[in-house]
Amino acid sequence: MSYQVDPIGFVRSCFKEKFAIPRQPLLAPAARGVLELVPPFDQPEALQGLEQVSHVWLLFLFHQALEDKPRLKVRPPRLGGNRSIGVFASRATHRPNGIGQSVVRLDGIEPGRLRLSGIDLLDGTPVLDIKPYVPYADSVAGAHNAIADAPPCPIAVEWDAAALAQAQAHAQRLGEPLVELIEQCLAQDPRPAYQRPEPERRYGVLLWDVQVRWHYPRAGVIRVLEVERD
Ligand code: SAM
Repeated sequence: MSYQVDPIGFVRSCFKEKFAIPRQPLLAPAARGVLELVPPFDQPEALQGLEQVSHVWLLFLFHQALEDKPRLKVRPPRLGGNRSIGVFASRATHRPNGIGQSVVRLDGIEPGRLRLSGIDLLDGTPVLDIKPYVPYADSVAGAHNAIADAPPCPIAVEWDAAALAQAQAHAQRLGEPLVELIEQCLAQDPRPAYQRPEPERRYGVLLWDVQVRWHYPRAGVIRVLEVERD
């Protein structure tokens, strides 16, 4: 038996590629986006009452990780990418039906769209449903998860003076907290855990319409080198 589901909207996100997206929502509060609803869910009736809610659950499709052959085991980045666990013990993107879930901050409601922050969603992500976060039920006192018991330990982010000036100028142009976004995302250390890069090695990612480039000048430190319009 199979069931069909259809998106109720699509996310327009600061994240234009998968690399450097935080592994969970709310780790980068400056990560902003908009959920654009499609008819008939773009009508005010569908959103009535949602203004009383600070956070929402989004159920969505990992549309850039969909696979025909289901995996039973995955290698989550959290475990360094070289240890595998059962797919149902992880929040990996490669999973049956490709369904993701994130609690995000609801910053505003506009006709046919929701303004969101703290997102961990790629641009274009299809959203299947929105549900209000219910603090008394969704926050479980005493819950534990020995695989992921705390957020990743942030690493230090330094700036070349010119890169910081570039980021501040683009932040003003975009009307977005770009400096904070870069710092919050890079502090999660996006490189694969097994890589121990030489200081000469450059990394890069597109956030909004700017290409951010950085390197690892010494252990435990990221230095932002360039923030240029793509
Ligand atoms: N909070 C969600 C969950 O637990 O289901 C997502 C967790 S998953 C580990 C987070 C990663 O999903 C991000 O780092 C990003 O690279 C990836 N991702 C986000 N949106 C995606 C999409 N539409 N398609 C494929 N991968 C996506």
